[in-house]
Amino acid sequence: MKILVLGDPRGTNISPIIEELNTKYGPFNCCLVLGTIGGILEFPVPVYTEGRHSIGDLSIGFGTTNVDIMVTSKWPKNIEFNSAVPLNTSLDCYDIDLTSYGCLYHFATGPFFEREPFINPLGRPTRFISLSPIDSGDRYYYAFETDGPQRNDWPQHPWLFLKESTHGKRLIDGQRDEPVSKRQQRPQRTCFLCLSNPDLEKYLIIHIGNSSYITLSKGPLTVAKPEWNLPVSGHLLIIPISHDSVRNLLKNVPETQEIRYNVQQIASYYRSVSFHAVCAQLSHNTISHPFVHILPVHSSIISASGIIQYFEKTARDAGFNPVSKANFPDHFNCFTLQVYDCESDHIHELFFAINRKWIDFQFFRVNMANILNIQERISWAKCADQAIETADVQNFRKLVLPKINLQ
Ligand SMILES: [Zn+2]
Repeated sequence: MKILVLGDPRGTNISPIIEELNTKYGPFNCCLVLGTIGGILEFPVPVYTEGRHSIGDLSIGFGTTNVDIMVTSKWPKNIEFNSAVPLNTSLDCYDIDLTSYGCLYHFATGPFFEREPFINPLGRPTRFISLSPIDSGDRYYYAFETDGPQRNDWPQHPWLFLKESTHGKRLIDGQRDEPVSKRQQRPQRTCFLCLSNPDLEKYLIIHIGNSSYITLSKGPLTVAKPEWNLPVSGHLLIIPISHDSVRNLLKNVPETQEIRYNVQQIASYYRSVSFHAVCAQLSHNTISHPFVHILPVHSSIISASGIIQYFEKTARDAGFNPVSKANFPDHFNCFTLQVYDCESDHIHELFFAINRKWIDFQFFRVNMANILNIQERISWAKCADQAIETADVQNFRKLVLPKINLQ
């Protein structure tokens, strides 16, 4: 099956363009156009601009999910996550419905962008390609041949964070009905957070403990400022080493004891240099390593109680249910926030249960970016810079680690 896709014509007569491309790269079985066509034109192949169609075994849908080839005018939110392809613009994106997102090809309009294929929430490989309008001077067409899915060993998109591509259905149901031993046997070469993954970005690692390790957060939300008494970003992640780790941080097992101890050590150091330490954990059954963020916030920016008040509201708005520490569920899906106040000895704490199948993995980062009024740093992918991060990790090891006693 040979298919041609064209960007938005915006009034351009696409007849000669299709003729030329069809002669050069075709013959095509059909052509999909990402926009409207003016006038009555003749084409050498069937041309579709809307609706739902079948070409052989492939289904094509404009604006609908549950098809093999999907066409939308906007981009789905966060499609650029974990892509090495640079994207130097921010776009108006739509809230994607992950429960039916299983297309093999997804075409959208915008600047030209083709990210690496990834495994979608239904366990199939997706290629996302954005095409420019025809008159833009940028790439406006894409020709490809497909008979359906060919391979599925691509990395999984961090919408899910798990490499369980053949178990997509189970993830959708939000159930984990297999015994742990079977789950642990799965290869974890492509898990973004397993230390055993040869492609893990080791330059970010600051410390490795017995059951957890500490990294600089890739594309950290905050950067060091010369007027502050902290020579590093300080935005860290404490990540359980085990691929299937304990999710309730309040549980008293060695793994959580180590994480809690290290959080306290780092937080006391941040406090000693006039920063609140904001610690957050999002634990959900779609996340394999429920890591803890630690973010230093200078006390001149906001009070610790101001941060707590902000999250009290936004967490409720997100549909999280506040629970007391005593009644904190022994539960997969929860969000915990602790703010170590540097102006008192107080530790402010919030606990929420989450009764949702799908959550925004960036919940903490987006809210902190809003609190700090640095919305331009919401996307970690846009903030990522290996040279800056390597220097920051080295500074942390040299200047801060000697002052902290970690397990
Ligand atoms: Zn893992």
